[in-house]
Amino acid sequence: MKAFTEYLYFHTKKRQELLNITGQVEEALSKSGINEGLCLVNAMHITASVFINDDEGGLHEDFLLWLEKLAPFGKDKYKHNLTGEDNGDAHLKRTVMGREVVVAVTKGKLDFGPWEQIFYGEFDGQRRKRVLVKIIGE
Ligand code: ZN
Repeated sequence: MKAFTEYLYFHTKKRQELLNITGQVEEALSKSGINEGLCLVNAMHITASVFINDDEGGLHEDFLLWLEKLAPFGKDKYKHNLTGEDNGDAHLKRTVMGREVVVAVTKGKLDFGPWEQIFYGEFDGQRRKRVLVKIIGE
């Protein structure tokens, strides 16, 4: 069995952004030389997500509006922020959108369902953050 590890780095301009990272994960898979196996992609920070969905702009606006209703930004809204932080909302948004995805690798390609793409969800950005790509197989 082979194992391949790569880190992707993101530094978003806005506090919240959803980025399609499918191409970067496909590049890592290509470098790995693995044809059959599993590809794990996870955010290494507790205020960012990795998730799979459709690359459709209206849907992405819907996600951000929905998350803002569930967990609106606000320094005095969360007990977590009593520690001096202002990102209580971002921890909650990250938990709803998920930490990681696992995609099957078949014949050297990410084996997606129709319209599936991999996204990095940033909820407390404007600083450098990491995503892990770990691919195992043969
Ligand atoms: Zn925090």
